[in-house]
Formats: sequence, C-alpha cells, structure tokens
Amino acid sequence: MFGLEYTQAWCLLTEERMSNNNNLNFFFLIALLVLVSCTPSDPPANVGESLAAPVAENDDAIDLIVEGDYLVTMDDEGNVIADGALAIDGGLIIAVGTAVDINSQYTAKTRLPGDKSIVMPGLINGHSHAAMTLLRGVADDLALLEWLTDYIFPAEVEFVDAEFVRIGTELACWEMIRGGTTTFVDMYYYPDVVAQVVESCGLRAFVSATVIDQRSPDAENAADSIEKGIVFVENWKGRNSRIMPIFGPHAIYTLNAEQLAATRAAANEAGVAISIHMSESLFELEHSKQSFGKTSIELFESIGFLDGPTIGAHVVWPTDEEIIILAERKVGVIHNPSSNMKLASGISPVTDMLHAGVLVGLGTDGAASNNDLDMWEEMRLAAFLQKVDQMNPEVLSAMTVLRMATSGGAEAVGLSGKIGTLAIGMRADVIQVSFDDVHFVPTYDVISHLVYVADEQDVASVIVDGKLLMRDGEFMTIDTGRVAKEAAELAGRIQAALAERNQ
Ligand SMILES: [Zn+2]
Repeated sequence: MFGLEYTQAWCLLTEERMSNNNNLNFFFLIALLVLVSCTPSDPPANVGESLAAPVAENDDAIDLIVEGDYLVTMDDEGNVIADGALAIDGGLIIAVGTAVDINSQYTAKTRLPGDKSIVMPGLINGHSHAAMTLLRGVADDLALLEWLTDYIFPAEVEFVDAEFVRIGTELACWEMIRGGTTTFVDMYYYPDVVAQVVESCGLRAFVSATVIDQRSPDAENAADSIEKGIVFVENWKGRNSRIMPIFGPHAIYTLNAEQLAATRAAANEAGVAISIHMSESLFELEHSKQSFGKTSIELFESIGFLDGPTIGAHVVWPTDEEIIILAERKVGVIHNPSSNMKLASGISPVTDMLHAGVLVGLGTDGAASNNDLDMWEEMRLAAFLQKVDQMNPEVLSAMTVLRMATSGGAEAVGLSGKIGTLAIGMRADVIQVSFDDVHFVPTYDVISHLVYVADEQDVASVIVDGKLLMRDGEFMTIDTGRVAKEAAELAGRIQAALAERNQ
C-alpha cells in the first residue's frame, strides 16, 4: 500500500475537523502527502575452488553456465531436470539440459557449480514502493490515526525527497537481490531516481510515474504529475531494456474519472502500461460507490481505463462480474497477502480469479505495510491464507503459488515469453537457491520445499539479463556498506524528528 491508509485517515480526520469547524487548510496540507502512500548462507563446498579456477577464455566461450541438482524450469509441464544446467550468453538462455550435456557442448567464462542447489527463474515482485524501506517499522500495531499523524505523515513531510528515494530504493534493491527477486513493479515519487538506481543495481523493473491529484513530493496535482510522467516515460522508454517506464495512477480515491482517463490516454500515447491500486479495501469500495455509483473495476471498465496493459495491485474485493472483466481485459492482478493481512484489508479471492482465467502474480507492497520485501514469505502466506479462508487445504498448491511468483507473475506484468521460465530464448533472469541447510533435510519434493521451507537467506546467486548481481551471497552491483550507512543516518534523523515532534 501507499496512500490507502493515508486517505482513509485523511477522510476521518477531515470529517472530524470539519465538525469542529477547524481550519481545513492544515488537512489539505497533509493530504498532499497522503499520497504517499543478509546474512549470506555458507557457500557450497566446491564453489570457491571452481570460481577460483575459471575456464580459460577463448573466443567460443559463452558467458555463463549455471548448474543445479534440480533445475526447476517452470515451463507449462512443470519439468524439473535433475543434475541440470543452463547455458547463458549475451543475456539469453541459450541451452537447458543436464549438466553433463551442457558442459560437453559449451565452455563458459564463468561457471556456477550446482552442488546442493536449485536453479529456477528469478522471482517477480509485482507491486512495491521500494523507497518505503526507509519507513520500515517506523511505527506498527497502532490505531490508524495515531500511526499516520504521529509517524508516517511527519516523516514524509520532512524527509521524502530525491535523496530519500535514492537511498530507500538502493536499500530495497539490495534486499530484493538478497532474496532472489529479479523483477519488480514500483510506484513511488521521483521515478527518474528509481530508474537510475535500477540501472546501476542491475535489476529489471517497471518504474511508475505516480499520478495523484494532490500536491506530492514531486508534483503539484494530477495534471502536473501526468505532464511530468510523460517526460519521464519519454526519457526512459527504450533507453535500457531492463527498465520499463510506466504510469502509476495511484487509486480511484485519489483521482477522478477524467484524470484516470487522461492517464490512460497518456500511457496509450506513449505505448506503455499502467500500474494502479485496485479494489484494495472496503473503504475504496464505499468511496467508489458513493462517488461514481459503481464499484471500482466497473468504473474502470466504463471509462475505458482498461483499454491497454494494466497491472492492478491487491484486488481484494472484486465482485463476480468484476472478476469476469479482469479476465476478459487481461488485467494482471497482483496479490499482496502480507500487506492485506497487516492492514486488515481482507482476503483476496485468488482461487476464484485463477479459476476464471485472471492472470495473478504476487507482490510485497511497500515495506511500511509488510515490513519486508520477501517474496518467499508472500508465496507461503498466499497459499496458507487461501487454504484457511476456504477451509480447504487443496486450494492454491505449492506449484500454483510458485507460478504466481515466476511464470504467472511474468504473464501478469506483461513479460511472458521474456522471463519467468527457464527455456531457450528467454532473458537469463535466474537464481540459484542453496538447499544446504537443515530445514531442507530431508528433501522429498523440491517444489514443496521452495514454497513451504525456503527463505531469502537460502538464495545464493542472482543473475539478471545474464549478469551476476549476487554470487554466493556476495553483492556485485551494490556497495552494501555505503547503503547501510546512509540508510542508518537518514533513519536516525527521521527517528529524532519524530521523537521531538511527539514529545
Ligand atoms: Zn501499494
């Protein structure tokens, strides 16, 4: 989430203040901001030896061979290749097979041995507000108004600027790489800064220009944010194949129908997608009925907002009719179980949507409402939440959830055929997960272990577009010491300011 709680609270606050006949300006001021809404595992025993002695370079050597005791392809048949390997060159997977076959056909400049490891597609985090890592745990378990007015609003008023976004996004990229996420869909302020960080850290991302009808840290109102979004998208479209600039209209309760339609028009004009919070809470449902006489997805459909690629975050409260619209319009729905549980938003009807043919992926939402960016946890919670909600342990199987985080997630964000499976011709977004830990003993079913056992700390190596971003727990693209220091300094200033304010 970002924005949701703020707006709910803002409405409550406004009502209260209006009844007190107090000065509303103060509320408009805060409403402006409303919007705003590793421990490496031990390296496998033979890794150092092999990496220390790379294969001698020759003209025919490909970039990389990645081996695993299990190669989880996530193809349509769910094939898992025992003692498998991938050949990677020029950013692409050029061969998939057994390690014996791959090594007999190719020589690589770098080889990641596969003893005690699983190779699989990188995880796709379909909804995040990366820079909100800096507000992780700033306040939890509080009544909404207290949480907002005493902590989140003041912190954002004072601290959200380009530097905040740079440091917070770097921190998020570090955490996502650490946990095996290779693609994310972000929505926050200063998208140029987010894109620059993504460029340097090596991840793949959809970076949204946030559109909201309030004064925000980087725009005055909806028209201004659309204009700035157009410039951002023009600047970044086609500049780096890993970075997809898109529009991020915040939600139905922070934009009116004309502004939503104008954002869709700008996105279609530029040929890019949209990411938006959709049917997240009962508050949104009520707001939509009162303002438009329709539920939110019905409103989107009625104004042509779904006439183009759309990624809808949350979708907790769709009606049966709206689920049909989502399927027909091929809206990519992103399920965020941690955030939905922590904010008590509700339980998304994920199994109903999947049965209806809706494309469903997984996301973490921002770290202020999660409080981390751990996709393993999202997989596990997604499965458990559906099972207990329906009182049926057979729903949302481990394989179904793993698809939502990989191949299904790729479909939901519009990158099917490029990422999400291990197959020839796919971009090489690949992770190696070590299963040399007591919680993997014994291993009967590797898919079950990936969903019900594995966590961030088990990820050993991360490759995006054929480039190593983390190798055996060591970060190749992020100066983690610097980021940790900068984040701690900024967090210290936030904490001091809040302490002084709340004295
Ligand atoms: Zn969100």
